[in-house]
Amino acid sequence: MFNKILIANRGEIALRVIRACREMGIGSVAVHSTADSDAMHVRMADESVCIGPPSSTQSYLSIPSIIAACEITGAEAIHPGYGFLSENAAFVQIIQDHDLTFIGPTADHIRVMGDKITAKDTMKKLGVPCVPGSDGGVDTLEDAKRIGAEMGYPVIIKATAGGGGKGMKVAGSAAEMERAFMTARAEGKSNFGNDEVYIEKYLTTPRHIEIQVFGDGKGNAVHLGERDCSLQRRHQKVFEEAPGPSITQEERDRIGKICADASANINYIGAGTIEFLYENGEFYFIEMNTRLQVEHPVTEGIFGVDLVREQIRVAAGLPMSFTQEDLKINGHAIEVRINAERLPNFSPCPGRITQYHAPGGLGVRMDSALYDGYSIPPYYDSLIGKLIVHGRDRPEALARLGRALGELIVDGVDTTIPLFDALLQEPDIHSGNYNIHWLEHWLETHLQPA
Ligand code: ADP
Repeated sequence: MFNKILIANRGEIALRVIRACREMGIGSVAVHSTADSDAMHVRMADESVCIGPPSSTQSYLSIPSIIAACEITGAEAIHPGYGFLSENAAFVQIIQDHDLTFIGPTADHIRVMGDKITAKDTMKKLGVPCVPGSDGGVDTLEDAKRIGAEMGYPVIIKATAGGGGKGMKVAGSAAEMERAFMTARAEGKSNFGNDEVYIEKYLTTPRHIEIQVFGDGKGNAVHLGERDCSLQRRHQKVFEEAPGPSITQEERDRIGKICADASANINYIGAGTIEFLYENGEFYFIEMNTRLQVEHPVTEGIFGVDLVREQIRVAAGLPMSFTQEDLKINGHAIEVRINAERLPNFSPCPGRITQYHAPGGLGVRMDSALYDGYSIPPYYDSLIGKLIVHGRDRPEALARLGRALGELIVDGVDTTIPLFDALLQEPDIHSGNYNIHWLEHWLETHLQPA
């Protein structure tokens, strides 16, 4: 086992990894920018190294600084968290070249799944059901129009290098194709340096269902059921739950096995998420994330396992501590993402926290790096906390969420807490009757942008 792990991240996910290290008796090293000198992850880690100025390109994304921090502190492995360098194949390669260990999949896995066209092609060959669409990239507007006509509108044009909801445009008709095609290409180019796009049938009322997989890199892999992340704003998840309210045990076993087998087949190592759209009882693969997800705690809640501990174990060459048969669902878990944002426009709202009080009690988990007097810097993501609740069933989890939100105090900045208070008043949320468009429609009618 490792003696010391460096966490190449900040915020709540850095705390999450430090906590796992501490429970395993492993030393932790935080890295931070000058803007984060007073951040909680720096205070909580055993050691810390300042790796650059506020801009993430010069700090949390600076590979030479992170490798140097490992060498200075003697850390043997790097946990990337999510975002930043977590899906950067070159980073993984460099880590290996320095005889260090990356806590995550191989550079090859990241490369294959990081390109959406290659990922889809690979999954198709492994027997994973995919959204109907163009076979590979589409280079010209003429081809795009021909495919649109053949497939039938609406279609979605996606940048193969896209992520975080960027580089995706819907064309509702042939007339909208030119604009959608050009915009998706331009967004792919400017955000990801790659203008290749492909086309998929646009599903009109799907749910977003993702399967958590876990592999040991030696041909063994399991699945940990699904998460329903259909409540999204601008293709970004805001509320996630497990199990999915619309998924039966038979469906879970079927799609879970397909995903576990696919992961085993490619000798996948560590945590991964295979994302699907789910409509009329069918699953359609959209992408695979080769890292720990923001919403992993809901899976931890219902299975009672520590996914970060498991990531560290397999990275150190140990076997997984559970088999498929060991994994039994217990109850229901929900996560809401608390962002420092001003409603109704969701504009970022950094600033000083004058009062912070985290909720507690049975079945409540608050993953956050906030503290009284902390100043949220303006340079990074606006996620400031995740409130996760667990109950014996979905109604109990929802009631607990309402109770915990009532206890949560974040003063000094605007947050998305009122959004969740309002959502808990909605009958559709209680019945689980929502798809990926539900929240956008609800926001249009309930929260008019100023
Ligand atoms: P990203 O990598 O940017 O997160 P994804 O491919 O995972 O992109 O898609 C993100 C979201 O976009 C999905 O959860 C869904 O809401 C929407 N989406 C993607 N593909 C389709 C599709 N074929 N039809 C309808 N919606 C889609």
